[in-house]
Amino acid sequence: LGGSISRALQQMSNATIIDEKVLSDCLNEISRALLQADVQFEMVRDMQSNIERIVNFDDLADGHDKRRIIQQAIFNELCKMLDPGEPSFTPKKGKTSVIMFVGLQGSGKTTTCTKYAYYHQNKGWKPALVCADTFRAGAFDQLKQNATKAKIPFYGSYTESDPVKIAAEGVERFKNENCDLIIVDTSGSHKQEAALFEEMRQVSEATKPDLVIFVMDGSIGQAAFDQAQAFKQSVAVGAVIVTKMDGHAKGGGDLCAVAATKSPVIFIGTGEHMDEFEVFDVKPFVSRLLGMGDWSGFMDNIHEDVPTDQQPELLQKPAEDTFTPRLMYEQFQNILKMSPLDQVLSTLPGFSAELMPRGHEKESQAKIKHEKESQAKIKRYMTIMDSMTNAELDSTNPKLMNEARIRQIARDSGQHVRDVMDMFEEYNRLAKIWSTMKRLEINAQQLSKFH
Ligand code: GDP
Ligand code: MG
Repeated sequence: LGGSISRALQQMSNATIIDEKVLSDCLNEISRALLQADVQFEMVRDMQSNIERIVNFDDLADGHDKRRIIQQAIFNELCKMLDPGEPSFTPKKGKTSVIMFVGLQGSGKTTTCTKYAYYHQNKGWKPALVCADTFRAGAFDQLKQNATKAKIPFYGSYTESDPVKIAAEGVERFKNENCDLIIVDTSGSHKQEAALFEEMRQVSEATKPDLVIFVMDGSIGQAAFDQAQAFKQSVAVGAVIVTKMDGHAKGGGDLCAVAATKSPVIFIGTGEHMDEFEVFDVKPFVSRLLGMGDWSGFMDNIHEDVPTDQQPELLQKPAEDTFTPRLMYEQFQNILKMSPLDQVLSTLPGFSAELMPRGHEKESQAKIKHEKESQAKIKRYMTIMDSMTNAELDSTNPKLMNEARIRQIARDSGQHVRDVMDMFEEYNRLAKIWSTMKRLEINAQQLSKFH
């Protein structure tokens, strides 16, 4: 999805004149990508007409940067699709909150309950798990195993068959034990669907949750809309967690669930393990979707921040065929010259994800800290490369360097072997991105020949 959308934007960027035709081509391309990703037709149509309304060519004087206005409009509309504007209930540490999880069987509820508990426990909360799934044999065992592994208190029963009773008892018990996050896992299947929704209504009535989280499998696509809506009709769904984003998720399903529940996605699951769980933030997600962490966005920043005659030529385009360590070194030099570093780094392909810690803190202090860390890392890598030979710096296959040599470089540069390895890993990552960029560039050139 991200690939096709960013290509559409790229093509628009390449156009010499931005007119209505270019805009509608671009929007059609994006709409097609969204539909292919299983976003509902109505949502796509609304997005397209909103953007067309916002970007009114009659009102735009020639001086306006139309390209930028269009990009901004697309960005905002996609953010709106993912963010209904109303933040979900946020539990407060030290104050008891009951969180009920709902979703169909297999969506990842039980796994996600534990991840959610574990995530908060690591931040100093006192979570507890209640298993109100009495329908599926083995449900309690599964939760018990997860909870034991994470050292989280749990409640459930092998013999009691009334989920409402267990849920109420569990919540009661953990309230008395002063837990501040009581998580209720529920069943996701029934002989009759209506019975499931009635059960959810009753469990909710008995436990009075502060927040109901709808858990969905990221790969179900448009089916998410009906599923989410069905749950929303029986309980007050206030947030969505999308699981299995590590798999074949097309990305459209979560948009549907957001639309159906008018609730934001708050976390995503990215694997089976307890810590494969990430806070979900709309803006960075959409940036990535749009490929804004790519060279075109990067270029915009350079044009804005650095006077033309000082623009580092290497950063203009991935012109070289192969990405050598020397090229990386020169890029690092250029990055350190620029400011604000944060802004530049966050748009350089690949950097945002790894070098910039994946925090979600918006506080400027955290930002400054990240900036310093990134800067220190770059300097460390450069120090390491200072101890490499010319041949090594110009090598197109530095991966082949042997262990003894790596140790030697570490010694010579006064850095840890681990850091040298990290530097090479970073090199490999950037080299991959570099070659992708090359391919994309070639494709764009070929495409433009046909138009
Ligand atoms: P429930 O029936 O809704 O409680 O779903 P479970 O928590 O039992 O999960 C169903 C299956 O999905 C299990 O095999 C989980 O390990 C797997 N699963 C859950 N979340 C994720 C995820 O984020 N990524 C992957 N790859 N698998 C997941
Ligand atoms: Mg379960």
